[in-house]
Amino acid sequence: MAEHFDLLIRNGTCVLPWGMEAADIGVRNGRIAAIGVPAGATAGETIDATGLHVLPGLIDPHVHLRDPGDAAVETIPTGTKGAILGGFTAVFDMPNTTPSIVDVEKLAWKQGYVEQVAWCDMGLYVGGTKTNIPELVDLELGKGVCAVKIFAGSSTGDLMVEDDENLEKVMRSGRRRIAYHSEDEYRLQARKGMFKSGDPYSNHMVWRDEEAAFLGTRRLMALATKTGRLAHILHVSTAEELDYLQDYRDICTVEVLVNHLTQVAPDVYDRLKGFGVMNPPIRGQRHMDASWEAIRNGTVDTVGSDHAPHPRARKLLPWPECPAGLTGVQTLVPLMLNHVNAGRLSLPRMVDLMSAGPARVYGVVGKGRLAAGYDADFTLVDMKRQRRIEESWIVSPSGWTPFAGMDITGWPMATIIRGRAVMREDEVLGTPTGRLVRFAG
Ligand SMILES: [Zn+2]
Repeated sequence: MAEHFDLLIRNGTCVLPWGMEAADIGVRNGRIAAIGVPAGATAGETIDATGLHVLPGLIDPHVHLRDPGDAAVETIPTGTKGAILGGFTAVFDMPNTTPSIVDVEKLAWKQGYVEQVAWCDMGLYVGGTKTNIPELVDLELGKGVCAVKIFAGSSTGDLMVEDDENLEKVMRSGRRRIAYHSEDEYRLQARKGMFKSGDPYSNHMVWRDEEAAFLGTRRLMALATKTGRLAHILHVSTAEELDYLQDYRDICTVEVLVNHLTQVAPDVYDRLKGFGVMNPPIRGQRHMDASWEAIRNGTVDTVGSDHAPHPRARKLLPWPECPAGLTGVQTLVPLMLNHVNAGRLSLPRMVDLMSAGPARVYGVVGKGRLAAGYDADFTLVDMKRQRRIEESWIVSPSGWTPFAGMDITGWPMATIIRGRAVMREDEVLGTPTGRLVRFAG
């Protein structure tokens, strides 16, 4: 009797952990049951992936979905809809909402809410503050928690731990890898007075200079070495840090943002003004070149979007009143596929950075590779599809993207989560069935 599957993905080119191969994939009970399926096998549903590449479900490990917060800008329902339209099967959401996710009660609320309204699977960061340090040891083991997030600098009010004494206490509370926003808060504050309202937007990178980021990272590496606590430095943006961190690979993993791989100063500020302002800032060509070199030499573990929408009206404010942060979850996969087509990295390296990488860094269970027994999460992409990024395509209520008008080659065509197609060719299918991602703890 012919073997039967719930879902068959036929005729695609699969990016397997051991290389790219033409293979059919069989799915049963939401998990990958077979890689290589006999011609006579039957299935409840068959997806013809002729001409497409089948990637393990891609993960954006760095989004700010602003929920609870400002629903006119983003929510978990809208942000995760953007994620599946953009080819993601999971996103990891930051804790700096209103209120912030910093205690058991708020985490419990979010855990329940996510599984009612999210279109994709989600990991949740919990925020470290100076007042919840003893609780972090338990909070980091909560269901769906991907990591503790520490804002070591960036002026995010209560949600900041900027001094060495408290940073060391954080590192000694718990044992999983901690994710850091690394800019030295004291240097940022000391330099703020050098500038005035209405200065050019490019002064954002002068104020938050290379040394602010590098000093923050040096301090964190000294404390991580002292305490033995694993670190993940988010959105590394300078050539100096990328070089320096090669000596800390035993204790530190590295994220870069697609923005730092795609946009460069002064062009980004000339063209986009406030819509190019983010933290850490977009910098000059030397740093973009170093980021690509760090992709090629293996220093970088993950690529994220740092999706952090703000209202269009506020991005039009003069610098530095215009808030830092950009939409990005929906455009990250097309941008990276375009970089693959431009020869800047291979498709397997992109999968390493966007599926296997997040799984490895955060300790994801059952995702991050095409392998029997793993969750049946797939991102199907057409490497030849040409399309322009249009703001009309963006589902974030904020309504804008800094990449509008960019011509892209390579596009996500379908998103499949635990065996269920949730997006095919721009169409969102069914109802939200996102679940919390499982993590080894
Ligand atoms: Zn962020």
